[in-house]
Amino acid sequence: MRRRDVMAGNWKMHKTVPEAVELATAVRAGLEARPADLDVVLFPPFTALQAVSQVLKGSRIELGAQNMHWEKQGAFTGGVSPLMLRDIGCSYVILGHSERRQLFGETDEAVDRKARSAVDNGLTPLVCVGETLSERESDRTLEVVERQVERALRHLGPDEAARMVISYEPVWAIGTGHAATPEQAEEVQAFIRKLVAISHGEPAADALRVLYGGSVKADNIGALMAQGDIDGALVGGACLQARSFLEIIHYPKD
Ligand code: PEP
Repeated sequence: MRRRDVMAGNWKMHKTVPEAVELATAVRAGLEARPADLDVVLFPPFTALQAVSQVLKGSRIELGAQNMHWEKQGAFTGGVSPLMLRDIGCSYVILGHSERRQLFGETDEAVDRKARSAVDNGLTPLVCVGETLSERESDRTLEVVERQVERALRHLGPDEAARMVISYEPVWAIGTGHAATPEQAEEVQAFIRKLVAISHGEPAADALRVLYGGSVKADNIGALMAQGDIDGALVGGACLQARSFLEIIHYPKD
């Protein structure tokens, strides 16, 4: 089955509102000048979601948030709810990014609750999984990824799992300039699809989009995308400039 590729840009804690508008406008213009046959999703910081939503109106580019609380509302100071994200035009939300797991104590349990809530509230969860360098060096990569995938999907049905997106992001590759090799990424991504086939059935596993993230650049995206289980990329540093993000989206295919 041919899955539709996804190129996603995680802006992290970058861009003021005017800078965000400038970047989103340039990405939109670049895609209108040269359309690409894939899904493109931008993940600005919360403070720029409203402004970027206005820029993207009427385009095919989708909007997502970098995190959310699982509750719809309540006494959660500093929290942002799935209802608020829908209200502002988001259709995606990143859950379990390694920076949230490592720096903000995000647990597998929280990712599980958030994934259920995202689906219940009409958002597509983009769940990040991946091992640290020491986990890879001690041969625990597959064990760690299995636990993270199993927890994130445990309360989703087959059709819900089919529509979500998982991004394999080895922690040692994020922001380091040292991307996984296409073979390293493919090994784990094929494993993720196999896990989903066992837990949610072959049709869900076939439909699920599995992205790679970690130092993706214009010069490595082609080799990564040539792998059978890589359906796109979650891009950090290289999405902060329209030109480099558009080069990744329009990578040469031979
Ligand atoms: C990320 O943070 O999701 C990421 C992949 O970052 P970078 O592309 O900068 O490694």
